[in-house]
Amino acid sequence: MKFFVDICTYTPYSKVMKTNHEKADRQCRGTVFNIQKFSVNDGPGIRTVVFMKGCPLHCAWCANPESQSACPQILWDKRKCIHCQQCAENCHLSAISFHEDHFHVDDTICDSCSLCVRECPAAALKKEGERNTVQEVLNIVEQDRVFYEESGGGITLSGGELLMQPRFAENLLKAAHENGLHTACETTGFAQKETFAKIMKHVDWIYMDLKHWDPHKHKEGTGVFNEIIIENMKYAIDQGYDVHVRIPVIPGFNDTIEDARHFAETLRKAGTDEVQLLPFHQFGENKYDMLDCSYAYENKKAYHPEDLEEYRKEFEKFGMHAFF
Ligand code: SF4
Ligand code: SF4
Repeated sequence: MKFFVDICTYTPYSKVMKTNHEKADRQCRGTVFNIQKFSVNDGPGIRTVVFMKGCPLHCAWCANPESQSACPQILWDKRKCIHCQQCAENCHLSAISFHEDHFHVDDTICDSCSLCVRECPAAALKKEGERNTVQEVLNIVEQDRVFYEESGGGITLSGGELLMQPRFAENLLKAAHENGLHTACETTGFAQKETFAKIMKHVDWIYMDLKHWDPHKHKEGTGVFNEIIIENMKYAIDQGYDVHVRIPVIPGFNDTIEDARHFAETLRKAGTDEVQLLPFHQFGENKYDMLDCSYAYENKKAYHPEDLEEYRKEFEKFGMHAFF
């Protein structure tokens, strides 16, 4: 995979962007929970990744559980909390309570005012999710333009799922193109065809994950069937878009040699002969605790590429290039 391009061959994307005459609405608002700079694993070159809130899938192993709800949320770090209860006293809506020293916020009451976060003496609270305009997000992304130009990078929309905020995603991608930025996204592909098509025409580099080849197993692990995802993947590939398919390899869910064989068949039918394998990791474990919810993969051993070599080779038997 090519991550960096020569500065001399870098073409501003304003010159190659797909034709679209209607200008972006830069005042359109969306909910974003993180903007991460200097990323080198989320598309070509150096990138700024915009994490959008809300996801139609609820994968049991999700590394960003704070992305799943579409609403802003208050996270509590029990390691920092000094149990002064000031947050509960300060909250003007009495949304905070403590049960056996465990913080709880009632999301149906909280109006996300952030007072508890600002006033916590131990910095134990964090708000995930802010309403931002397209222009506000772009102002941050633009701060690193020089690095994009040197590396062939740009902006990546991740999540959560950008297709859950289609108007915001479309306007942000359009505005990025108007500014001459390369655009990428990491998508589940789970949306109606019309929505998917409308957004993807503004994306220069598309990462799409497939969590399971079997529709019922897919539903067991993620909460939704996979047919729409596979259809949209095929559509994007047929359109000639730059689609990069990935499989998160999850212990006990999709990690047998038979799974690899079925994945290879499914992906070949969808029109791709290349796949990236993402070994399961435990990066999100602490966040489940902060969100006050249980984590089904607690204590599960992380995978490393060397553990999955036989799995990877199975794809090659079907003429696919599989890599980590
Ligand atoms: S104000 Fe902060 S330190 Fe005090 S109880 Fe609330 S979360 Fe804990
Ligand atoms: S964000 Fe505001 S309303 Fe929500 S729990 Fe904190 S203080 Fe209460």
